[in-house]
Amino acid sequence: MIKQLHLRIPPIIAHDDNSLSDYLSAELGVPRHEITGIRRVRQSIDARGRQIFVQIQVEVFINEPFLKFKAKELDMKNVSAADPVIIVGSGPAGIFAAFKLIELGFKPVIMERGKEVSARRRDLAILMKQHIVNPESNYCFGEGGAGTYSDGKLYTRSTKRGDIERILHLFVSHGADERILYETHPHIGTNKLPQIITAMRRTIIEHGGEFHFSSKVTELIIENNTCKGVKLASGGTINGTAVILATGHSARDIFFMLHRQNVLIEAKPFALGVRIEHPQALIDTLQYHCNLRGEYLPPASYRLVHSRKNSLGASTGQGVFSFCMCPGGIIAPAMTNPGEIVVNGWSPSGRNNSYANSGLVVSVDEEDFKPYAHHGPLAALYFQQAVEQKAFTSGGSNLKAPAQRVTDFIAGKTSSTLPDNSYFIGTTSVHLQEILPKSVNNRLREGLIAFGKKMKGYVTEDAILLATESRTSSPVRVPRDKDTLQHPQIKKLYPCGEGSGYAGGIVSAAMDGERVATKIPE
Ligand SMILES: Cc1cc2nc3c(=O)[nH]c(=O)nc-3n(C[C@H](O)[C@H](O)[C@H](O)COP(=O)(O)OP(=O)(O)OC[C@H]3O[C@@H](n4cnc5c(N)ncnc54)[C@H](O)[C@@H]3O)c2cc1C
Repeated sequence: MIKQLHLRIPPIIAHDDNSLSDYLSAELGVPRHEITGIRRVRQSIDARGRQIFVQIQVEVFINEPFLKFKAKELDMKNVSAADPVIIVGSGPAGIFAAFKLIELGFKPVIMERGKEVSARRRDLAILMKQHIVNPESNYCFGEGGAGTYSDGKLYTRSTKRGDIERILHLFVSHGADERILYETHPHIGTNKLPQIITAMRRTIIEHGGEFHFSSKVTELIIENNTCKGVKLASGGTINGTAVILATGHSARDIFFMLHRQNVLIEAKPFALGVRIEHPQALIDTLQYHCNLRGEYLPPASYRLVHSRKNSLGASTGQGVFSFCMCPGGIIAPAMTNPGEIVVNGWSPSGRNNSYANSGLVVSVDEEDFKPYAHHGPLAALYFQQAVEQKAFTSGGSNLKAPAQRVTDFIAGKTSSTLPDNSYFIGTTSVHLQEILPKSVNNRLREGLIAFGKKMKGYVTEDAILLATESRTSSPVRVPRDKDTLQHPQIKKLYPCGEGSGYAGGIVSAAMDGERVATKIPE
């Protein structure tokens, strides 16, 4: 017999399958040895009250052979001799487009400007230790895209459960822990992602797909308003049945290329702000209402939103929100060029660092880009770049991030000292209002004051703000037809993923890759 149950139990019981089996044996009045296995279907933490509970949906196998979990495998053919489809970019959008193309009988040919995972790791070490940014190989560029050395949180606002499960199963069949299938807030961790991405590449190649690293695309081959292939920085050309453009939001040269080639692009609102960091122990205390988290709970996270209201009490859409929160994490230097500062966050699978960081951003729009309006569809991009460059010079022109204590930011004064933090390269005390546009600065201050009221203790001397969190979304949209998903002017060109403005995050970029690939045979 398999019994389905919904439980609300203390973390000490939910923590491992042995204690859970003991509990179920007592609860169900079934001898312990008759429980042959437990499968967790859904699991979340309820930290709303003083006492913390874990809510679990489980299947209990009683006197029944336990069926071990098996990730769903894709039905993939060998496509080495099939029609080639060029995918520019090996991020989540590109990789998942490649899997889908193989299922559909096309040969994915992935062109990636960066290096494969292991070589990329060396460039990240050079960035951290020697403070040298390689414009082709960094936290955003290289095998697996911005997803490889990311935090690997796999939540999305999308409600298409079937599609999400497909993506999660593919991660599991390439080495991710099966916990990601049942946890409400699944997370892989930076230490595990590189092996998973490597395994995915191997599967794609085994089925006849191709990967070309250090192959930067510099031009689209367009004839009679149809995209026929791409030209590379090396001088070579590659032709294909179609081109999927999945280059992420940091590939500014791709936006310049499209503009130069008269391919329609549009400026779009994007998110801009700072990264905030607290001691993890403080966030645990605030979220779990305890002095010490203990061993049975994961490091606590949070999600905060403050919406500005107009005089009628309606939201103005100018809110402040926390984004990409990394419990037990590290603040990463995510710039793609020398001369700019961009920060982001990651955490290892165990989330065992002593800091908790999160993006804290506001949405900026054409009102903010006005001074750059003469750049037309690149106005938002130039605005973004100018803020990042200002942060670089303010920080001391040496990749140190400009920073301020949260309390000083609110009080409007420069910090005389800065708290310890996880940004390895170092921080420089700066009044952040010198870097951030006034409207962003004001909204962040208002948001922080509101967050301090919602979460007492959040505004503290021990919390630090680092600039700039500027790459959470793309400043450019590459338009596409809503039915064919092709560019409205250029046939067989498929804008895809976060860079083209159709995704935000790993899972949504992966789903967009699949969605676009599905349109290729039409
Ligand atoms: C440090 C960090 C932490 C993050 N944490 C999370 C998280 O926890 N959860 C989450 O959902 N999201 C996270 N993100 C965001 C997430 O990584 C992105 O949303 C996602 O990777 C976007 O996927 P994509 O395929 O659209 O683009 P990308 O992943 O950006 O991939 C684009 C690829 O295109 C390549 N490329 C660019 N230009 C060219 C060219 N001219 N020729 C050839 N190749 C080119 C790039 O090298 C890159 O590999 C994080 C990002 C960073 C940087």
